[in-house]
Amino acid sequence: MTNKKRKISILGSTGSIGRQALEVIEKLQDRFEIIALTAGSNYELLNKQITKFKPKYAYCNSPENIVGAKYLPLDEICSNQENDIILVAVSGKIGLKPTLKAIQNGIDIALANKETLVMAGDIVMQKAKQAGVKIIPVDSEHCAIHQCIKDISQVEKLIITASGGPFLRKTIQEIKQATVKEALAHPRWNMGKKITVDSATLMNKGLEVIEAHHLFNMPYDKIDVVIHPQSIVHSAIEYKDGSVIAQLGLPSMHIPIQYAITYPERFEGIKSKSFSFSEIAHLDFEKPDLDKFPTLNLAFNAGKTGGSATVCLNAANEEAVFAFLNEKINLFDIYTITEKIVSEHDVIKNPNIDEIFDIDKEIRIKTNELIK
Ligand code: MG
Repeated sequence: MTNKKRKISILGSTGSIGRQALEVIEKLQDRFEIIALTAGSNYELLNKQITKFKPKYAYCNSPENIVGAKYLPLDEICSNQENDIILVAVSGKIGLKPTLKAIQNGIDIALANKETLVMAGDIVMQKAKQAGVKIIPVDSEHCAIHQCIKDISQVEKLIITASGGPFLRKTIQEIKQATVKEALAHPRWNMGKKITVDSATLMNKGLEVIEAHHLFNMPYDKIDVVIHPQSIVHSAIEYKDGSVIAQLGLPSMHIPIQYAITYPERFEGIKSKSFSFSEIAHLDFEKPDLDKFPTLNLAFNAGKTGGSATVCLNAANEEAVFAFLNEKINLFDIYTITEKIVSEHDVIKNPNIDEIFDIDKEIRIKTNELIK
Protein backbone atom coordinates (compact mmCIF):
# COMPACT_ATOMS: atom_id res chain seq x y z
CA MET A 1 0.00 0.00 0.00
CA THR A 2 2.96 2.31 0.55
CA ASN A 3 3.29 3.76 -2.94
CA LYS A 4 0.25 2.48 -4.70
CA LYS A 5 -3.27 3.69 -3.95
CA ARG A 6 -5.48 1.08 -2.38
CA LYS A 7 -8.60 0.51 -4.43
CA ILE A 8 -11.70 0.26 -2.33
CA SER A 9 -15.46 -0.11 -2.70
CA ILE A 10 -17.86 0.73 0.11
CA LEU A 11 -21.12 -1.16 0.35
CA GLY A 12 -23.48 1.02 2.36
CA SER A 13 -21.68 4.36 1.96
CA THR A 14 -24.65 6.41 3.18
CA GLY A 15 -24.97 4.57 6.52
CA SER A 16 -23.24 5.46 9.77
CA ILE A 17 -20.12 3.32 9.14
CA GLY A 18 -20.01 4.20 5.44
CA ARG A 19 -20.08 7.95 6.09
CA GLN A 20 -17.33 7.66 8.70
CA ALA A 21 -15.27 5.54 6.31
CA LEU A 22 -15.48 8.34 3.75
CA GLU A 23 -14.29 10.81 6.41
CA VAL A 24 -11.29 8.55 6.96
CA ILE A 25 -10.65 8.28 3.21
CA GLU A 26 -10.92 12.04 2.82
CA LYS A 27 -8.02 12.38 5.28
CA LEU A 28 -6.06 9.70 3.42
CA GLN A 29 -6.92 10.84 -0.10
CA ASP A 30 -3.52 10.08 -1.55
CA ARG A 31 -3.75 6.50 -0.33
CA PHE A 32 -7.16 5.46 -1.63
CA GLU A 33 -9.00 5.29 -4.90
CA ILE A 34 -12.71 4.57 -4.68
CA ILE A 35 -14.00 2.05 -7.18
CA ALA A 36 -17.65 1.97 -6.13
CA LEU A 37 -20.08 3.38 -3.60
CA THR A 38 -23.43 1.77 -2.90
CA ALA A 39 -26.55 2.83 -1.05
CA GLY A 40 -30.08 1.56 -0.53
CA SER A 41 -32.71 4.26 -0.97
CA ASN A 42 -30.73 7.39 -0.05
CA TYR A 43 -29.64 8.35 -3.58
CA GLU A 44 -29.47 12.07 -2.67
CA LEU A 45 -26.59 11.52 -0.23
CA LEU A 46 -25.08 8.92 -2.58
CA ASN A 47 -24.99 11.51 -5.38
CA LYS A 48 -23.30 14.06 -3.08
CA GLN A 49 -20.69 11.41 -2.24
CA ILE A 50 -20.23 10.65 -5.95
CA THR A 51 -19.59 14.34 -6.68
CA LYS A 52 -17.03 14.53 -3.90
CA PHE A 53 -15.25 11.16 -4.17
CA LYS A 54 -15.69 10.37 -7.87
CA PRO A 55 -16.11 6.59 -7.79
CA LYS A 56 -16.24 4.82 -11.15
CA TYR A 57 -19.38 2.90 -10.24
CA ALA A 58 -22.37 3.22 -7.99
CA TYR A 59 -25.38 1.18 -6.98
CA CYS A 60 -28.66 2.04 -5.29
CA ASN A 61 -32.25 0.77 -5.32
CA SER A 62 -33.23 3.33 -7.96
CA PRO A 63 -30.47 3.22 -10.62
CA GLU A 64 -32.19 5.96 -12.67
CA ASN A 65 -31.41 8.44 -9.89
CA ILE A 66 -27.63 7.91 -9.93
CA VAL A 67 -25.76 10.95 -11.27
CA GLY A 68 -22.04 11.04 -12.01
CA ALA A 69 -21.08 7.37 -11.85
CA LYS A 70 -21.86 4.30 -13.88
CA TYR A 71 -24.55 2.05 -12.39
CA LEU A 72 -23.32 -1.45 -11.66
CA PRO A 73 -25.27 -4.25 -9.91
CA LEU A 74 -23.96 -5.24 -6.47
CA ASP A 75 -22.83 -8.63 -7.73
CA GLU A 76 -20.67 -7.03 -10.40
CA ILE A 77 -19.22 -4.50 -7.97
CA CYS A 78 -18.19 -7.38 -5.71
CA SER A 79 -16.63 -9.40 -8.50
CA ASN A 80 -14.77 -6.43 -10.00
CA GLN A 81 -11.07 -7.31 -9.89
CA GLU A 82 -10.07 -3.65 -9.68
CA ASN A 83 -10.94 -3.82 -5.96
CA ASP A 84 -8.16 -4.47 -3.45
CA ILE A 85 -10.64 -4.39 -0.59
CA ILE A 86 -14.38 -4.06 -0.08
CA LEU A 87 -15.82 -2.47 3.05
CA VAL A 88 -19.09 -4.22 3.81
CA ALA A 89 -20.95 -1.60 5.83
CA VAL A 90 -24.54 -2.40 4.91
CA SER A 91 -26.76 -3.50 7.76
CA GLY A 92 -28.81 -6.66 7.78
CA LYS A 93 -28.81 -9.83 5.74
CA ILE A 94 -28.22 -8.01 2.43
CA GLY A 95 -24.52 -8.02 3.40
CA LEU A 96 -24.15 -11.77 3.10
CA LYS A 97 -24.37 -12.48 -0.63
CA PRO A 98 -22.11 -9.59 -1.76
CA THR A 99 -19.53 -10.64 0.85
CA LEU A 100 -19.52 -14.20 -0.49
CA LYS A 101 -19.20 -12.87 -4.03
CA ALA A 102 -16.16 -10.78 -3.08
CA ILE A 103 -14.57 -13.75 -1.27
CA GLN A 104 -15.17 -15.96 -4.31
CA ASN A 105 -13.29 -13.35 -6.36
CA GLY A 106 -10.35 -13.23 -3.96
CA ILE A 107 -11.04 -9.68 -2.74
CA ASP A 108 -10.20 -8.84 0.89
CA ILE A 109 -13.05 -7.74 3.14
CA ALA A 110 -13.30 -5.13 5.86
CA LEU A 111 -16.37 -6.43 7.61
CA ALA A 112 -18.75 -4.19 9.52
CA ASN A 113 -21.83 -6.31 8.88
CA LYS A 114 -22.61 -8.62 11.80
CA GLU A 115 -25.26 -10.69 10.03
CA THR A 116 -22.71 -12.09 7.59
CA LEU A 117 -21.04 -14.09 10.35
CA VAL A 118 -24.07 -14.60 12.59
CA MET A 119 -26.08 -16.11 9.71
CA ALA A 120 -23.35 -17.94 7.83
CA GLY A 121 -20.10 -17.77 9.78
CA ASP A 122 -19.09 -21.37 9.03
CA ILE A 123 -19.53 -20.96 5.28
CA VAL A 124 -18.01 -17.48 5.08
CA MET A 125 -14.88 -18.30 7.09
CA GLN A 126 -14.33 -21.59 5.28
CA LYS A 127 -14.62 -19.95 1.86
CA ALA A 128 -12.35 -17.07 2.92
CA LYS A 129 -9.74 -19.56 4.09
CA GLN A 130 -9.94 -21.52 0.83
CA ALA A 131 -9.64 -18.34 -1.25
CA GLY A 132 -6.85 -16.86 0.90
CA VAL A 133 -9.04 -13.81 1.56
CA LYS A 134 -8.49 -11.67 4.66
CA ILE A 135 -11.54 -10.73 6.69
CA ILE A 136 -10.63 -7.74 8.81
CA PRO A 137 -13.20 -6.84 11.44
CA VAL A 138 -14.50 -3.28 11.76
CA ASP A 139 -16.61 -3.90 14.86
CA SER A 140 -14.61 -2.14 17.60
CA GLU A 141 -14.38 -5.19 19.90
CA HIS A 142 -13.20 -7.54 17.17
CA CYS A 143 -10.89 -4.91 15.81
CA ALA A 144 -9.40 -4.65 19.32
CA ILE A 145 -8.92 -8.43 19.49
CA HIS A 146 -7.42 -8.44 15.99
CA GLN A 147 -4.90 -5.83 17.17
CA CYS A 148 -4.00 -7.85 20.29
CA ILE A 149 -3.46 -11.22 18.61
CA LYS A 150 -0.02 -12.17 17.37
CA ASP A 151 -0.51 -15.91 17.21
CA ILE A 152 -4.03 -17.22 17.62
CA SER A 153 -2.79 -20.70 18.58
CA GLN A 154 -1.37 -19.23 21.82
CA VAL A 155 -4.59 -17.50 22.84
CA GLU A 156 -6.54 -19.07 25.67
CA LYS A 157 -9.51 -16.75 25.89
CA LEU A 158 -11.20 -13.72 24.33
CA ILE A 159 -12.57 -11.04 26.66
CA ILE A 160 -15.19 -8.87 24.97
CA THR A 161 -16.12 -5.63 26.68
CA ALA A 162 -19.61 -4.10 26.68
CA SER A 163 -20.59 -0.60 27.76
CA GLY A 164 -23.81 -2.00 29.19
CA GLY A 165 -25.98 0.47 27.27
CA PRO A 166 -28.47 3.00 28.67
CA PHE A 167 -30.20 0.55 31.05
CA LEU A 168 -27.17 -0.76 32.91
CA ARG A 169 -28.30 0.75 36.24
CA LYS A 170 -32.07 0.37 35.66
CA THR A 171 -34.35 -2.22 37.23
CA ILE A 172 -36.17 -4.89 35.19
CA GLN A 173 -39.41 -2.91 35.78
CA GLU A 174 -37.81 0.24 34.35
CA ILE A 175 -36.45 -1.73 31.40
CA LYS A 176 -39.94 -3.07 30.67
CA GLN A 177 -41.33 0.47 30.61
CA ALA A 178 -38.47 1.92 28.58
CA THR A 179 -39.50 4.14 25.69
CA VAL A 180 -37.98 4.03 22.21
CA LYS A 181 -36.33 7.39 22.93
CA GLU A 182 -34.66 6.05 26.08
CA ALA A 183 -33.46 2.94 24.27
CA LEU A 184 -31.96 5.06 21.50
CA ALA A 185 -30.00 7.26 23.92
CA HIS A 186 -26.78 5.26 24.03
CA PRO A 187 -24.29 6.72 26.51
CA ARG A 188 -21.08 6.01 24.53
CA TRP A 189 -21.63 5.24 20.89
CA ASN A 190 -23.65 6.98 18.21
CA MET A 191 -24.92 4.27 15.84
CA GLY A 192 -27.89 3.20 13.72
CA LYS A 193 -31.24 2.53 15.43
CA LYS A 194 -31.29 -1.27 15.20
CA ILE A 195 -27.82 -1.72 16.70
CA THR A 196 -28.55 0.87 19.40
CA VAL A 197 -31.61 -1.11 20.55
CA ASP A 198 -29.48 -4.28 20.40
CA SER A 199 -26.97 -2.52 22.65
CA ALA A 200 -29.73 -1.67 25.12
CA THR A 201 -30.77 -5.34 25.41
CA LEU A 202 -27.17 -6.67 25.16
CA MET A 203 -28.20 -8.68 22.09
CA ASN A 204 -25.53 -6.71 20.27
CA LYS A 205 -22.95 -8.25 22.59
CA GLY A 206 -24.47 -11.67 22.02
CA LEU A 207 -24.17 -11.24 18.26
CA GLU A 208 -20.59 -10.07 18.78
CA VAL A 209 -19.80 -13.25 20.72
CA ILE A 210 -21.02 -15.27 17.72
CA GLU A 211 -18.97 -13.06 15.38
CA ALA A 212 -15.87 -13.53 17.54
CA HIS A 213 -16.36 -17.29 17.61
CA HIS A 214 -16.23 -17.39 13.80
CA LEU A 215 -13.58 -14.72 13.18
CA PHE A 216 -11.08 -16.16 15.65
CA ASN A 217 -12.20 -19.78 15.59
CA MET A 218 -12.66 -19.71 19.36
CA PRO A 219 -14.98 -22.09 21.26
CA TYR A 220 -17.83 -20.35 23.09
CA ASP A 221 -16.63 -21.42 26.53
CA LYS A 222 -13.44 -19.44 25.86
CA ILE A 223 -15.24 -16.18 25.17
CA ASP A 224 -16.08 -13.94 28.14
CA VAL A 225 -18.19 -10.80 28.21
CA VAL A 226 -17.42 -8.12 30.79
CA ILE A 227 -19.30 -4.86 31.37
CA HIS A 228 -17.02 -1.84 31.15
CA PRO A 229 -19.12 1.37 31.22
CA GLN A 230 -16.36 3.80 30.16
CA SER A 231 -15.72 2.02 26.80
CA ILE A 232 -11.98 2.68 26.99
CA VAL A 233 -10.84 -0.95 26.91
CA HIS A 234 -12.30 -2.13 23.60
CA SER A 235 -11.60 -5.83 24.29
CA ALA A 236 -8.77 -8.09 25.39
CA ILE A 237 -7.27 -11.53 24.97
CA GLU A 238 -5.70 -13.86 27.49
CA TYR A 239 -2.71 -15.93 26.42
CA LYS A 240 -2.08 -19.47 27.63
CA ASP A 241 0.39 -18.19 30.25
CA GLY A 242 -2.25 -15.90 31.76
CA SER A 243 -0.94 -12.66 30.25
CA VAL A 244 -3.75 -10.35 29.21
CA ILE A 245 -3.33 -7.93 26.31
CA ALA A 246 -6.00 -5.27 25.82
CA GLN A 247 -6.53 -2.52 23.27
CA LEU A 248 -7.45 0.87 24.70
CA GLY A 249 -8.51 4.22 23.31
CA LEU A 250 -11.24 6.83 23.48
CA PRO A 251 -14.43 5.55 21.86
CA SER A 252 -14.51 6.48 18.17
CA MET A 253 -15.61 4.32 15.24
CA HIS A 254 -13.22 6.15 12.91
CA ILE A 255 -10.30 4.29 14.44
CA PRO A 256 -11.47 0.69 13.85
CA ILE A 257 -12.73 1.63 10.37
CA GLN A 258 -9.37 3.18 9.54
CA TYR A 259 -7.50 0.21 11.00
CA ALA A 260 -9.52 -2.24 8.91
CA ILE A 261 -9.22 -0.47 5.57
CA THR A 262 -5.51 0.37 5.93
CA TYR A 263 -4.41 -2.94 7.53
CA PRO A 264 -1.60 -4.00 7.94
CA GLU A 265 -0.34 -0.42 7.86
CA ARG A 266 -1.27 2.41 10.20
CA PHE A 267 -1.61 6.07 9.34
CA GLU A 268 -2.45 9.21 11.20
CA GLY A 269 -5.56 9.82 9.09
CA ILE A 270 -8.25 10.62 11.58
CA LYS A 271 -6.16 10.43 14.70
CA SER A 272 -7.85 9.49 17.93
CA LYS A 273 -7.57 12.11 20.65
CA SER A 274 -4.71 10.84 22.85
CA PHE A 275 -6.04 9.56 26.07
CA SER A 276 -4.14 9.94 29.25
CA PHE A 277 -4.02 7.21 31.88
CA SER A 278 -3.59 9.84 34.57
CA GLU A 279 -6.63 11.84 33.49
CA ILE A 280 -8.91 8.82 33.51
CA ALA A 281 -9.67 8.41 37.17
CA HIS A 282 -10.68 4.77 37.03
CA LEU A 283 -11.84 2.01 34.74
CA ASP A 284 -14.70 -0.16 35.99
CA PHE A 285 -15.48 -3.76 35.14
CA GLU A 286 -18.34 -5.97 36.26
CA LYS A 287 -20.19 -9.13 35.35
CA PRO A 288 -23.23 -8.74 33.09
CA ASP A 289 -26.55 -9.13 34.96
CA LEU A 290 -28.16 -11.99 33.07
CA ASP A 291 -31.54 -11.57 34.80
CA LYS A 292 -31.82 -8.05 33.42
CA PHE A 293 -30.19 -8.90 30.11
CA PRO A 294 -31.10 -12.54 29.35
CA THR A 295 -30.59 -12.02 25.59
CA LEU A 296 -26.88 -12.43 26.14
CA ASN A 297 -27.33 -16.03 27.30
CA LEU A 298 -29.84 -16.66 24.55
CA ALA A 299 -27.18 -15.69 22.01
CA PHE A 300 -24.48 -17.79 23.69
CA ASN A 301 -26.79 -20.81 23.63
CA ALA A 302 -27.78 -20.30 20.00
CA GLY A 303 -24.10 -20.03 19.15
CA LYS A 304 -23.29 -23.26 20.99
CA THR A 305 -26.17 -25.02 19.24
CA GLY A 306 -24.83 -23.75 15.92
CA GLY A 307 -26.26 -24.56 12.50
CA SER A 308 -29.43 -22.63 11.77
CA ALA A 309 -29.95 -21.61 15.43
CA THR A 310 -28.10 -18.32 14.99
CA VAL A 311 -30.00 -17.60 11.75
CA CYS A 312 -33.21 -18.00 13.75
CA LEU A 313 -31.90 -15.87 16.63
CA ASN A 314 -30.90 -13.06 14.31
CA ALA A 315 -34.14 -12.99 12.30
CA ALA A 316 -36.47 -13.20 15.33
CA ASN A 317 -34.52 -10.53 17.19
CA GLU A 318 -34.46 -8.15 14.24
CA GLU A 319 -38.21 -8.40 13.67
CA ALA A 320 -38.83 -7.92 17.41
CA VAL A 321 -36.55 -4.85 17.43
CA PHE A 322 -38.53 -3.36 14.51
CA ALA A 323 -41.76 -4.03 16.43
CA PHE A 324 -40.29 -2.26 19.47
CA LEU A 325 -39.19 0.71 17.33
CA ASN A 326 -42.77 0.86 15.99
CA GLU A 327 -44.03 0.81 19.58
CA LYS A 328 -45.88 -2.49 19.18
CA ILE A 329 -44.05 -4.29 22.02
CA ASN A 330 -41.98 -3.28 25.04
CA LEU A 331 -38.22 -3.59 25.25
CA PHE A 332 -38.21 -6.75 27.37
CA ASP A 333 -40.62 -8.45 24.90
CA ILE A 334 -37.75 -8.47 22.40
CA TYR A 335 -36.21 -11.15 24.60
CA THR A 336 -39.47 -13.00 25.35
CA ILE A 337 -40.41 -13.22 21.68
CA THR A 338 -36.94 -14.14 20.43
CA GLU A 339 -36.59 -16.79 23.13
CA LYS A 340 -39.91 -18.40 22.19
CA ILE A 341 -39.12 -18.47 18.47
CA VAL A 342 -35.61 -19.85 19.04
CA SER A 343 -36.87 -22.57 21.42
CA GLU A 344 -39.43 -23.73 18.84
CA HIS A 345 -36.96 -23.81 15.95
CA ASP A 346 -35.94 -27.17 14.45
CA VAL A 347 -32.23 -26.71 13.99
CA ILE A 348 -30.61 -27.68 10.68
CA LYS A 349 -26.99 -28.71 11.24
CA ASN A 350 -25.13 -27.37 8.22
CA PRO A 351 -27.51 -25.18 6.25
CA ASN A 352 -26.40 -23.98 2.80
CA ILE A 353 -26.89 -20.37 1.72
CA ASP A 354 -30.31 -20.98 0.15
CA GLU A 355 -31.52 -22.80 3.26
CA ILE A 356 -30.20 -19.93 5.41
CA PHE A 357 -32.26 -17.40 3.45
CA ASP A 358 -35.32 -19.67 3.53
CA ILE A 359 -35.07 -20.08 7.30
CA ASP A 360 -34.52 -16.36 7.72
CA LYS A 361 -37.70 -15.61 5.77
CA GLU A 362 -39.77 -18.25 7.53
CA ILE A 363 -38.65 -17.07 11.00
CA ARG A 364 -39.47 -13.44 10.19
CA ILE A 365 -43.02 -14.42 9.20
CA LYS A 366 -43.42 -16.54 12.33
CA THR A 367 -42.08 -13.79 14.56
CA ASN A 368 -44.46 -11.21 13.14
CA GLU A 369 -47.39 -13.58 13.63
CA LEU A 370 -46.37 -13.97 17.26
CA ILE A 371 -46.04 -10.19 17.69
CA LYS A 372 -49.62 -9.73 16.41
MG1 MG B 1 -19.26 -3.48 18.66
